[in-house]
Amino acid sequence: MKWQTLKGYKIQRILTTNLPLIITNGDNNIMIDTGRKKAWNSISKKLDKVLGDNKINAVILTHTHPDHTQTLNQVVCKYDCKVLVYEKVVNKVCLNKKENFVLVNDEYELNDLGIEGKIIYIPGHSEGSIGIIVDDVIMIGDIMGDFVTKPFAKKKKRVSDDTLKSLKKLVDQKCKLYFPAHKERVYTYEQVENFYNRYIEGEIIYQV
Ligand SMILES: [Zn+2]
Repeated sequence: MKWQTLKGYKIQRILTTNLPLIITNGDNNIMIDTGRKKAWNSISKKLDKVLGDNKINAVILTHTHPDHTQTLNQVVCKYDCKVLVYEKVVNKVCLNKKENFVLVNDEYELNDLGIEGKIIYIPGHSEGSIGIIVDDVIMIGDIMGDFVTKPFAKKKKRVSDDTLKSLKKLVDQKCKLYFPAHKERVYTYEQVENFYNRYIEGEIIYQV
């Protein structure tokens, strides 16, 4: 599955879920999250196919949970790319080539990577969660998973204040598309805004 942003950046899945993603503008290739160790063979083969002779310039980690970071060392070994991670949680990431770390904080601009975009801090799902805005789309990691309740729940799922504030921050970005890390779904701005409003109004959320 492929998408294109307003200015022509291409976004492509590497596996059947949204994790990991490759974003390219022809000259620069950015990888969002890596993947589980057991998926490395598939990831590596697909990267060869997608990138051809090109390299990955940087990996950006939406957060440090193992399913997002387990193949980080393999990716860095293959491409010697930079690794962008939120500064406060860098000690939670296992990277052999520590010199490749680029520590980011709130509102970090991606211009140095040759990409038009920025990083925003969206704590809640985990302490170091970030959203990655590229042109008119955004990668949002696992935040939506915090809201999911099982069918027939009697009460709405309570999320932390941080998670709720972060969701509001995401709504405020008014991006065209929102890419969660898991499953195949992608949300429009209207869907995310509607979801936020339903949650605020106290509606039980059965599914995101
Ligand atoms: Zn997670």
